[in-house]
Amino acid sequence: MAGIATPVFSDPELKMVYIEADSASAVRKLAGMGLDIAAVREADGPDALRQAYRVEAVVSASDEAVLRKAGLKWTVAEQTGLRATAMATAAETVYHSFDEPGVGIKDQLYDIAETYPRITHLETIGYSIQERPMLAMRLTKNADDDDDDDDCYGGDGDDDDCKPQVLYVATHHAREWVATQMAMRLIKYLTANYGSDRRVTRLLRTTEIWIIPVANPDGYNYTFTNVRLWRKNLRDNDGDGVITNADGVDLNRNFDSRWALDNEGSSRVFGSGTYRGAAPNSEPETQAVVNFMQRHDFKFAISYHTYGNLILYPWGWQFRTPSFDDPIFLAQAGTDENPAIYDSLRSEGYNPGVGADLYITNGDFTDWSYAAAGVPSHTVEFTDGYDFRFPDDEAMVQTVFDDSLEFALSVAESARHPERPKSPVGIAAEDINHTPVTVSYGS
Ligand SMILES: [Zn+2]
Repeated sequence: MAGIATPVFSDPELKMVYIEADSASAVRKLAGMGLDIAAVREADGPDALRQAYRVEAVVSASDEAVLRKAGLKWTVAEQTGLRATAMATAAETVYHSFDEPGVGIKDQLYDIAETYPRITHLETIGYSIQERPMLAMRLTKNADDDDDDDDCYGGDGDDDDCKPQVLYVATHHAREWVATQMAMRLIKYLTANYGSDRRVTRLLRTTEIWIIPVANPDGYNYTFTNVRLWRKNLRDNDGDGVITNADGVDLNRNFDSRWALDNEGSSRVFGSGTYRGAAPNSEPETQAVVNFMQRHDFKFAISYHTYGNLILYPWGWQFRTPSFDDPIFLAQAGTDENPAIYDSLRSEGYNPGVGADLYITNGDFTDWSYAAAGVPSHTVEFTDGYDFRFPDDEAMVQTVFDDSLEFALSVAESARHPERPKSPVGIAAEDINHTPVTVSYGS
Protein backbone atom coordinates (compact mmCIF):
# COMPACT_ATOMS: atom_id res chain seq x y z
CA MET A 1 0.00 0.00 0.00
CA ALA A 2 2.86 2.38 -0.68
CA GLY A 3 2.79 5.48 -2.80
CA ILE A 4 0.52 7.80 -0.85
CA ALA A 5 2.33 10.54 1.00
CA THR A 6 0.87 11.39 4.37
CA PRO A 7 -0.25 15.01 4.21
CA VAL A 8 0.81 17.52 6.81
CA PHE A 9 -2.02 19.11 8.76
CA SER A 10 -2.17 22.77 9.60
CA ASP A 11 -5.32 22.56 11.75
CA PRO A 12 -7.52 24.96 9.82
CA GLU A 13 -9.76 27.04 12.06
CA LEU A 14 -13.50 26.59 11.64
CA LYS A 15 -16.25 28.13 13.70
CA MET A 16 -19.97 27.97 14.10
CA VAL A 17 -21.83 31.21 13.33
CA TYR A 18 -25.39 32.48 13.15
CA ILE A 19 -26.13 34.63 10.09
CA GLU A 20 -29.13 36.91 9.72
CA ALA A 21 -31.04 36.41 6.45
CA ASP A 22 -33.96 38.74 5.83
CA SER A 23 -35.77 36.56 3.28
CA ALA A 24 -35.95 33.08 1.77
CA SER A 25 -34.04 34.29 -1.26
CA ALA A 26 -31.28 35.55 1.05
CA VAL A 27 -30.99 31.99 2.41
CA ARG A 28 -30.67 30.62 -1.10
CA LYS A 29 -28.05 33.24 -1.85
CA LEU A 30 -26.02 32.05 1.14
CA ALA A 31 -26.26 28.47 -0.15
CA GLY A 32 -25.16 29.74 -3.56
CA MET A 33 -22.06 31.24 -1.93
CA GLY A 34 -21.03 27.68 -1.07
CA LEU A 35 -21.56 28.24 2.62
CA ASP A 36 -21.56 25.17 4.89
CA ILE A 37 -25.13 25.57 6.17
CA ALA A 38 -26.09 23.37 9.10
CA ALA A 39 -29.59 24.63 9.81
CA VAL A 40 -32.07 27.30 8.81
CA ARG A 41 -34.48 28.66 11.40
CA GLU A 42 -37.36 31.05 11.16
CA ALA A 43 -36.70 34.36 12.87
CA ASP A 44 -38.56 37.62 13.39
CA GLY A 45 -38.58 39.67 10.21
CA PRO A 46 -38.45 43.45 9.81
CA ASP A 47 -42.24 43.49 9.59
CA ALA A 48 -45.16 41.10 9.90
CA LEU A 49 -45.28 40.44 6.17
CA ARG A 50 -41.74 39.27 5.72
CA GLN A 51 -40.29 36.07 7.15
CA ALA A 52 -36.66 36.32 8.23
CA TYR A 53 -34.28 33.45 8.97
CA ARG A 54 -31.30 32.59 11.11
CA VAL A 55 -28.81 30.50 9.19
CA GLU A 56 -26.48 28.35 11.29
CA ALA A 57 -23.25 27.71 9.43
CA VAL A 58 -19.68 26.56 9.89
CA VAL A 59 -17.24 29.08 8.43
CA SER A 60 -13.55 29.58 7.78
CA ALA A 61 -11.72 32.92 7.81
CA SER A 62 -12.20 33.25 4.05
CA ASP A 63 -15.94 32.55 4.40
CA GLU A 64 -16.11 35.37 6.93
CA ALA A 65 -14.38 37.69 4.48
CA VAL A 66 -17.01 36.82 1.86
CA LEU A 67 -19.83 37.45 4.36
CA ARG A 68 -18.28 40.78 5.33
CA LYS A 69 -18.01 41.81 1.69
CA ALA A 70 -21.65 40.90 1.12
CA GLY A 71 -22.63 43.17 4.00
CA LEU A 72 -24.12 40.36 6.07
CA LYS A 73 -24.39 40.26 9.85
CA TRP A 74 -23.42 37.25 11.93
CA THR A 75 -22.54 36.24 15.45
CA VAL A 76 -20.12 33.55 16.56
CA ALA A 77 -21.64 30.71 18.59
CA GLU A 78 -20.20 30.12 22.04
CA GLN A 79 -17.44 27.61 22.71
CA THR A 80 -16.24 27.41 19.13
CA GLY A 81 -12.73 28.27 20.21
CA LEU A 82 -12.46 24.91 21.95
CA ARG A 83 -9.64 23.00 20.30
CA ALA A 84 -10.06 19.53 18.89
CA THR A 85 -7.78 17.93 21.43
CA ALA A 86 -9.84 19.36 24.28
CA MET A 87 -13.02 18.12 22.59
CA ALA A 88 -11.54 14.67 22.07
CA THR A 89 -10.51 14.44 25.72
CA ALA A 90 -13.96 15.52 26.82
CA ALA A 91 -15.45 12.98 24.44
CA GLU A 92 -13.71 10.06 26.07
CA THR A 93 -16.76 8.46 27.64
CA VAL A 94 -19.23 8.31 24.75
CA TYR A 95 -17.47 9.06 21.46
CA HIS A 96 -14.48 7.35 19.94
CA SER A 97 -12.41 8.01 16.88
CA PHE A 98 -12.13 5.51 14.05
CA ASP A 99 -8.53 4.52 14.79
CA GLU A 100 -8.27 4.46 18.59
CA PRO A 101 -6.94 0.98 19.50
CA GLY A 102 -9.44 -1.23 21.33
CA VAL A 103 -12.32 1.23 21.61
CA GLY A 104 -12.26 3.02 18.25
CA ILE A 105 -15.08 2.31 15.80
CA LYS A 106 -12.90 0.03 13.66
CA ASP A 107 -11.86 -2.22 16.55
CA GLN A 108 -15.38 -2.21 17.99
CA LEU A 109 -16.68 -3.56 14.68
CA TYR A 110 -14.01 -6.27 14.50
CA ASP A 111 -14.85 -7.27 18.08
CA ILE A 112 -18.58 -7.50 17.38
CA ALA A 113 -17.96 -9.61 14.28
CA GLU A 114 -15.83 -11.97 16.36
CA THR A 115 -18.36 -12.17 19.19
CA TYR A 116 -21.38 -12.82 16.95
CA PRO A 117 -20.09 -14.89 14.00
CA ARG A 118 -23.49 -16.46 13.27
CA ILE A 119 -25.41 -13.23 12.80
CA THR A 120 -22.75 -10.74 11.70
CA HIS A 121 -20.27 -10.48 8.90
CA LEU A 122 -17.89 -7.56 8.47
CA GLU A 123 -16.96 -6.58 4.94
CA THR A 124 -14.39 -4.06 3.73
CA ILE A 125 -16.12 -2.41 0.79
CA GLY A 126 -13.24 -0.12 -0.17
CA TYR A 127 -10.62 2.23 1.23
CA SER A 128 -10.56 5.93 1.97
CA ILE A 129 -7.96 8.32 0.56
CA GLN A 130 -5.73 7.63 3.57
CA GLU A 131 -6.42 3.91 3.15
CA ARG A 132 -8.69 3.40 6.10
CA PRO A 133 -11.07 0.49 5.50
CA MET A 134 -14.66 1.34 4.60
CA LEU A 135 -16.47 -1.14 6.84
CA ALA A 136 -19.97 -2.50 6.28
CA MET A 137 -21.54 -4.91 8.74
CA ARG A 138 -24.06 -7.46 7.56
CA LEU A 139 -26.55 -8.59 10.20
CA THR A 140 -28.78 -11.57 9.54
CA LYS A 141 -29.25 -15.16 10.57
CA ASN A 142 -26.44 -17.23 9.01
CA ALA A 143 -24.58 -14.06 8.10
CA ASP A 144 -21.46 -15.94 7.13
CA ASP A 145 -23.26 -17.70 4.25
CA ASP A 146 -22.11 -16.90 0.75
CA ASP A 147 -23.58 -13.53 -0.12
CA ASP A 148 -24.73 -14.44 -3.59
CA ASP A 149 -28.16 -13.46 -4.84
CA ASP A 150 -27.92 -16.00 -7.67
CA ASP A 151 -29.02 -18.64 -5.18
CA CYS A 152 -32.44 -17.01 -5.14
CA TYR A 153 -33.02 -18.15 -8.68
CA GLY A 154 -32.68 -21.89 -9.16
CA GLY A 155 -30.15 -22.30 -6.38
CA ASP A 156 -30.46 -24.63 -3.44
CA GLY A 157 -33.77 -23.06 -2.50
CA ASP A 158 -32.54 -21.89 0.88
CA ASP A 159 -34.55 -18.81 1.79
CA ASP A 160 -31.57 -17.39 3.63
CA ASP A 161 -29.96 -16.65 0.30
CA CYS A 162 -32.62 -14.31 -0.99
CA LYS A 163 -33.65 -12.25 1.98
CA PRO A 164 -34.56 -8.66 1.20
CA GLN A 165 -31.84 -6.18 2.11
CA VAL A 166 -31.85 -2.76 3.78
CA LEU A 167 -28.97 -0.34 4.26
CA TYR A 168 -28.08 2.20 6.95
CA VAL A 169 -25.23 4.64 6.26
CA ALA A 170 -23.87 7.14 8.77
CA THR A 171 -21.43 10.02 8.82
CA HIS A 172 -20.81 11.09 5.26
CA HIS A 173 -20.05 14.30 7.13
CA ALA A 174 -17.05 13.96 9.42
CA ARG A 175 -18.22 15.93 12.46
CA GLU A 176 -21.65 14.28 12.82
CA TRP A 177 -20.66 11.95 15.64
CA VAL A 178 -24.21 11.24 16.81
CA ALA A 179 -24.93 9.60 13.43
CA THR A 180 -22.17 7.04 13.97
CA GLN A 181 -23.48 6.48 17.49
CA MET A 182 -26.91 5.67 16.03
CA ALA A 183 -25.39 3.12 13.65
CA MET A 184 -23.22 1.48 16.32
CA ARG A 185 -26.08 1.33 18.80
CA LEU A 186 -28.32 -0.23 16.16
CA ILE A 187 -25.69 -2.93 15.56
CA LYS A 188 -25.39 -3.56 19.31
CA TYR A 189 -29.16 -3.59 19.78
CA LEU A 190 -29.67 -6.17 17.04
CA THR A 191 -26.82 -8.44 18.15
CA ALA A 192 -27.75 -8.27 21.84
CA ASN A 193 -31.44 -8.99 21.25
CA TYR A 194 -31.28 -11.69 18.60
CA GLY A 195 -32.62 -14.93 20.04
CA SER A 196 -34.34 -13.27 23.01
CA ASP A 197 -36.45 -10.50 21.51
CA ARG A 198 -39.10 -11.85 19.11
CA ARG A 199 -39.16 -8.82 16.86
CA VAL A 200 -35.39 -8.66 16.40
CA THR A 201 -35.12 -12.42 15.94
CA ARG A 202 -37.80 -12.42 13.27
CA LEU A 203 -36.21 -9.45 11.54
CA LEU A 204 -32.79 -11.10 11.27
CA ARG A 205 -34.36 -14.38 10.15
CA THR A 206 -36.22 -12.73 7.30
CA THR A 207 -34.14 -9.71 6.37
CA GLU A 208 -30.54 -8.79 5.70
CA ILE A 209 -29.45 -5.58 7.38
CA TRP A 210 -26.30 -3.76 6.29
CA ILE A 211 -24.84 -0.93 8.34
CA ILE A 212 -21.97 1.40 7.39
CA PRO A 213 -21.25 3.33 10.62
CA VAL A 214 -18.62 5.67 9.11
CA ALA A 215 -18.89 6.56 5.41
CA ASN A 216 -16.08 9.11 5.79
CA PRO A 217 -13.45 7.46 8.03
CA ASP A 218 -10.62 9.93 7.27
CA GLY A 219 -12.72 12.98 8.00
CA TYR A 220 -14.35 11.39 11.04
CA ASN A 221 -11.00 10.50 12.58
CA TYR A 222 -9.68 13.99 11.78
CA THR A 223 -12.48 15.54 13.87
CA PHE A 224 -11.01 13.74 16.90
CA THR A 225 -7.35 14.41 16.22
CA ASN A 226 -7.38 17.83 14.58
CA VAL A 227 -10.45 19.88 13.72
CA ARG A 228 -13.73 19.15 15.51
CA LEU A 229 -15.94 20.93 12.95
CA TRP A 230 -14.45 19.35 9.80
CA ARG A 231 -17.16 18.18 7.37
CA LYS A 232 -15.55 16.80 4.21
CA ASN A 233 -13.15 13.98 3.40
CA LEU A 234 -9.38 14.56 3.34
CA ARG A 235 -8.80 15.04 -0.39
CA ASP A 236 -5.82 17.35 -0.89
CA ASN A 237 -7.66 19.43 -3.50
CA ASP A 238 -4.80 21.74 -4.41
CA GLY A 239 -2.14 19.06 -4.15
CA ASP A 240 0.15 21.07 -1.91
CA GLY A 241 0.64 18.21 0.55
CA VAL A 242 -1.01 20.13 3.39
CA ILE A 243 -4.61 19.78 4.59
CA THR A 244 -6.07 23.27 4.90
CA ASN A 245 -9.48 24.87 4.52
CA ALA A 246 -8.96 24.64 0.75
CA ASP A 247 -9.16 20.86 0.93
CA GLY A 248 -11.72 18.11 1.24
CA VAL A 249 -14.69 17.01 -0.85
CA ASP A 250 -18.24 17.01 0.51
CA LEU A 251 -19.06 13.32 0.06
CA ASN A 252 -22.76 14.11 0.24
CA ARG A 253 -22.45 16.23 -2.93
CA ASN A 254 -20.13 13.90 -4.86
CA PHE A 255 -22.62 11.26 -6.02
CA ASP A 256 -23.44 10.88 -9.69
CA SER A 257 -26.99 12.16 -9.60
CA ARG A 258 -27.60 15.67 -10.94
CA TRP A 259 -23.97 16.25 -9.98
CA ALA A 260 -22.95 19.89 -10.51
CA LEU A 261 -26.45 20.70 -11.75
CA ASP A 262 -25.97 24.19 -10.34
CA ASN A 263 -23.79 26.07 -7.85
CA GLU A 264 -26.53 26.46 -5.28
CA GLY A 265 -26.95 22.77 -4.45
CA SER A 266 -23.18 22.23 -4.31
CA SER A 267 -20.02 24.25 -4.88
CA ARG A 268 -17.19 24.17 -7.41
CA VAL A 269 -14.88 26.04 -5.01
CA PHE A 270 -12.22 23.93 -3.25
CA GLY A 271 -12.60 25.72 0.07
CA SER A 272 -16.38 25.51 0.21
CA GLY A 273 -17.97 23.21 2.77
CA THR A 274 -20.09 21.83 -0.06
CA TYR A 275 -17.28 21.37 -2.61
CA ARG A 276 -18.58 18.61 -4.89
CA GLY A 277 -15.24 17.20 -6.11
CA ALA A 278 -13.55 17.21 -9.51
CA ALA A 279 -15.99 14.74 -11.07
CA PRO A 280 -19.05 12.70 -10.10
CA ASN A 281 -18.07 9.75 -7.89
CA SER A 282 -14.48 11.06 -7.91
CA GLU A 283 -13.80 10.08 -4.29
CA PRO A 284 -12.82 6.55 -3.25
CA GLU A 285 -15.29 6.76 -0.35
CA THR A 286 -18.13 7.53 -2.80
CA GLN A 287 -17.00 4.79 -5.19
CA ALA A 288 -16.95 2.23 -2.38
CA VAL A 289 -20.58 2.99 -1.48
CA VAL A 290 -21.69 3.08 -5.13
CA ASN A 291 -20.04 -0.23 -6.03
CA PHE A 292 -21.32 -1.83 -2.86
CA MET A 293 -24.90 -0.76 -3.54
CA GLN A 294 -24.72 -1.92 -7.13
CA ARG A 295 -23.67 -5.39 -5.95
CA HIS A 296 -26.78 -5.58 -3.78
CA ASP A 297 -30.51 -5.25 -4.11
CA PHE A 298 -31.49 -2.94 -1.28
CA LYS A 299 -35.18 -2.27 -0.80
CA PHE A 300 -34.64 0.80 1.38
CA ALA A 301 -31.80 2.90 2.74
CA ILE A 302 -31.41 5.45 5.53
CA SER A 303 -28.61 8.02 5.67
CA TYR A 304 -27.92 9.39 9.17
CA HIS A 305 -26.79 12.98 9.77
CA THR A 306 -26.93 15.66 12.43
CA TYR A 307 -28.70 17.97 13.05
CA GLY A 308 -32.11 19.59 12.60
CA ASN A 309 -34.91 17.16 13.61
CA LEU A 310 -35.67 16.22 10.02
CA ILE A 311 -36.70 13.14 8.08
CA LEU A 312 -36.00 14.00 4.45
CA TYR A 313 -36.74 12.03 1.33
CA PRO A 314 -36.25 12.63 -2.41
CA TRP A 315 -35.91 14.88 -4.09
CA GLY A 316 -33.16 17.11 -2.78
CA TRP A 317 -32.31 18.69 -6.14
CA GLN A 318 -35.67 20.35 -6.74
CA PHE A 319 -38.78 21.03 -4.68
CA ARG A 320 -41.59 21.45 -7.16
CA THR A 321 -42.49 17.84 -7.91
CA PRO A 322 -42.83 15.02 -5.41
CA SER A 323 -41.28 11.71 -6.35
CA PHE A 324 -43.32 8.79 -7.65
CA ASP A 325 -42.96 6.99 -4.32
CA ASP A 326 -44.09 9.93 -2.24
CA PRO A 327 -46.92 7.90 -0.62
CA ILE A 328 -44.43 5.26 0.53
CA PHE A 329 -42.02 7.85 1.92
CA LEU A 330 -44.88 9.61 3.67
CA ALA A 331 -46.20 6.40 5.23
CA GLN A 332 -42.71 5.71 6.61
CA ALA A 333 -41.73 9.21 7.71
CA GLY A 334 -45.16 10.40 8.84
CA THR A 335 -46.57 13.90 8.76
CA ASP A 336 -45.92 17.12 10.66
CA GLU A 337 -48.81 16.24 12.99
CA ASN A 338 -47.79 12.62 13.27
CA PRO A 339 -44.04 12.25 12.59
CA ALA A 340 -42.21 8.92 12.68
CA ILE A 341 -39.62 10.22 15.15
CA TYR A 342 -40.34 12.21 18.28
CA ASP A 343 -37.42 14.02 19.92
CA SER A 344 -37.66 13.44 23.68
CA LEU A 345 -34.74 15.77 24.38
CA ARG A 346 -36.46 18.72 22.72
CA SER A 347 -40.06 17.61 23.32
CA GLU A 348 -40.98 18.04 19.69
CA GLY A 349 -41.53 15.89 16.63
CA TYR A 350 -39.10 15.55 13.76
CA ASN A 351 -40.16 17.37 10.62
CA PRO A 352 -40.75 14.96 7.71
CA GLY A 353 -40.75 16.07 4.09
CA VAL A 354 -39.11 16.41 0.71
CA GLY A 355 -35.39 17.18 1.00
CA ALA A 356 -35.42 20.49 -0.84
CA ASP A 357 -37.26 23.58 0.18
CA LEU A 358 -35.34 26.60 1.38
CA TYR A 359 -32.26 25.46 -0.42
CA ILE A 360 -31.48 22.54 -2.68
CA THR A 361 -28.75 19.93 -2.87
CA ASN A 362 -27.31 18.04 -5.80
CA GLY A 363 -25.14 14.95 -5.94
CA ASP A 364 -26.28 13.79 -2.51
CA PHE A 365 -26.53 10.17 -1.40
CA THR A 366 -30.30 10.01 -1.05
CA ASP A 367 -31.07 11.33 -4.53
CA TRP A 368 -28.43 9.06 -6.07
CA SER A 369 -29.63 6.06 -4.13
CA TYR A 370 -33.19 6.60 -5.32
CA ALA A 371 -32.61 7.82 -8.88
CA ALA A 372 -29.58 5.75 -9.90
CA ALA A 373 -29.64 2.70 -7.65
CA GLY A 374 -33.43 2.49 -7.44
CA VAL A 375 -33.41 2.38 -3.64
CA PRO A 376 -35.99 4.56 -1.87
CA SER A 377 -34.03 6.43 0.81
CA HIS A 378 -34.45 8.75 3.75
CA THR A 379 -32.02 11.22 5.30
CA VAL A 380 -32.47 11.59 9.05
CA GLU A 381 -31.04 14.72 10.68
CA PHE A 382 -30.90 13.99 14.40
CA THR A 383 -31.88 16.08 17.35
CA ASP A 384 -31.89 19.82 17.09
CA GLY A 385 -30.39 22.57 19.15
CA TYR A 386 -27.03 21.09 20.16
CA ASP A 387 -25.30 21.67 16.81
CA PHE A 388 -22.12 19.61 16.44
CA ARG A 389 -21.17 19.86 20.11
CA PHE A 390 -23.74 17.42 21.34
CA PRO A 391 -22.99 16.83 25.04
CA ASP A 392 -20.75 13.91 25.94
CA ASP A 393 -23.60 12.41 27.90
CA GLU A 394 -24.36 8.70 27.61
CA ALA A 395 -28.01 9.03 28.62
CA MET A 396 -28.63 11.78 26.06
CA VAL A 397 -27.04 9.85 23.19
CA GLN A 398 -29.01 6.76 24.16
CA THR A 399 -32.19 8.84 24.10
CA VAL A 400 -31.47 9.89 20.51
CA PHE A 401 -31.11 6.21 19.63
CA ASP A 402 -34.25 5.18 21.52
CA ASP A 403 -36.26 7.93 19.80
CA SER A 404 -35.12 6.78 16.36
CA LEU A 405 -35.23 3.00 16.83
CA GLU A 406 -38.85 2.48 15.80
CA PHE A 407 -38.34 4.29 12.50
CA ALA A 408 -35.19 2.25 11.80
CA LEU A 409 -36.90 -1.07 12.56
CA SER A 410 -40.04 -0.17 10.60
CA VAL A 411 -38.02 0.63 7.50
CA ALA A 412 -36.24 -2.73 7.82
CA GLU A 413 -39.56 -4.50 8.29
CA SER A 414 -40.86 -2.81 5.13
CA ALA A 415 -38.26 -4.57 2.99
CA ARG A 416 -40.32 -7.72 2.53
CA HIS A 417 -43.19 -5.81 0.91
CA PRO A 418 -41.88 -2.37 -0.10
CA GLU A 419 -45.11 -1.30 -1.78
CA ARG A 420 -46.94 -1.77 1.53
CA PRO A 421 -44.40 -0.25 3.92
CA LYS A 422 -44.69 -0.67 7.65
CA SER A 423 -45.68 2.73 8.95
CA PRO A 424 -44.52 3.56 12.48
CA VAL A 425 -47.41 6.03 12.65
CA GLY A 426 -50.18 3.92 11.12
CA ILE A 427 -50.42 5.56 7.70
CA ALA A 428 -51.24 3.26 4.76
CA ALA A 429 -49.36 4.17 1.58
CA GLU A 430 -52.28 3.41 -0.72
CA ASP A 431 -54.47 5.94 1.07
CA ILE A 432 -52.23 8.87 0.27
CA ASN A 433 -52.79 11.24 -2.61
CA HIS A 434 -49.89 12.90 -4.35
CA THR A 435 -49.71 16.16 -2.46
CA PRO A 436 -46.35 17.90 -2.33
CA VAL A 437 -44.92 18.27 1.14
CA THR A 438 -43.30 21.67 1.39
CA VAL A 439 -42.33 22.24 5.00
CA SER A 440 -38.75 21.04 5.07
CA TYR A 441 -35.16 22.08 4.74
CA GLY A 442 -32.17 20.84 2.79
CA SER A 443 -29.72 18.30 4.15
ZN1 LIG B 1 -24.61 15.82 7.27
